[in-house]
Amino acid sequence: MSFSQLQDELNLRKQASLYRTRRTLQTPQSPNIKVDGKDYLAFCSNDYLGLANHPDVIAAFQNAANLYGVGGGASHLVSGHSQAHHELELALAEFTGRDRALLFSTGYMANLGAVTALLDKQDGVFEDRVNHASLLDAGLLSGARFQRYLHNDATNLQTRLQRSETRRKLVITDGVFSMDGDIAPLSELADVSCAADAWMMVDDAHGLGCIGKEGRGSVDHFGLGQDDVQILMGTLGKAFGTAGAFIAGSDVLIETLIQHARSYIYTTSMPPAVAAATLRSLQLVREEEWRREKLRALIAQFRTGCESLGLALMDSQTPIQPVMVGSSETAMQMSAALEAKGIFITAIRPPTVPKNEARLRVTLSASHTEADVDRLLVALSEVKI
Ligand SMILES: *Cc1c(COP(=O)(O)O)cnc(C)c1O
Repeated sequence: MSFSQLQDELNLRKQASLYRTRRTLQTPQSPNIKVDGKDYLAFCSNDYLGLANHPDVIAAFQNAANLYGVGGGASHLVSGHSQAHHELELALAEFTGRDRALLFSTGYMANLGAVTALLDKQDGVFEDRVNHASLLDAGLLSGARFQRYLHNDATNLQTRLQRSETRRKLVITDGVFSMDGDIAPLSELADVSCAADAWMMVDDAHGLGCIGKEGRGSVDHFGLGQDDVQILMGTLGKAFGTAGAFIAGSDVLIETLIQHARSYIYTTSMPPAVAAATLRSLQLVREEEWRREKLRALIAQFRTGCESLGLALMDSQTPIQPVMVGSSETAMQMSAALEAKGIFITAIRPPTVPKNEARLRVTLSASHTEADVDRLLVALSEVKI
């Protein structure tokens, strides 16, 4: 073990245009941000509905901090499960049409906790090959026989399920794919899973708030209840604009997670004020349909603009609108050129996306204006390589 070895590896990563660095944000999350002292128009946050800096959500957070203090102080099973957490769980269960919901501190932890609580080495896990890293990690950590099926391919999944003879089978997919923006064919996947006596888990980090009635997400978009999709996972740090995550499903599922999900049991509860703020943002998500309408208009404007510029887009009707570039080096160059024009879009490179599929992951928010999108289109036309 030596530092020079590590340094050599870091250098190689730099040469391959794969080195990652952090930038320092000096404003709230919004389309207009200040980063390292400079102002930018940004198109890469997951604050799709513009709620991360909403005055009502901030006020709910502040009021709850006065009531509950800052820290959760203990895990949920010791003395950290506050009234604010409990109310949010009830509201999320009602919202998603499931028996119950269980809060986790992050989406990464929710996925790890749920999958490892349900599966072990006697079982099989079947994941879309471009699932979010936290789902892939969860499947691997569970020790279950791990298979990746072709992207959105229910037939390929079916073949794999038919060949498998494990005790339990769990099929896992993103509802809306985080780096591509496309929606998984959940009805077909659910049919195939049901026929093989497998359960299905949907991670709807990017669907909730953005699609479905009142923002109920991809499962609602396809009309699937908890008998079709037994495990529904949602994150609160994206369209909800706060932080944390939840799993929703049957009473028996939630009780099982409370007993066995290690990332639920062995960690401090999220700050109660975050739960209270989320309760307010959930109301806004449901009631303010104009945010979704605005998003749809901006998405259409952006796609039409890109088509006329000859920019390669993906088949996405969601706020995730990646501009495909290919090489990591080109993606970095385009990102830097946009930055010089005052536009902030981080280049997404492997291993977050497959090799040679580097991209500018453009995300739109209900807080963007038509003029913002026009400015982005002009800038993209100028930096196009
Ligand atoms: C962001 C994300 C997660 C992780 O959620 P965090 O709350 O940020 O940890 C999980 N799954 C998907 C699909 C995501 O996009």
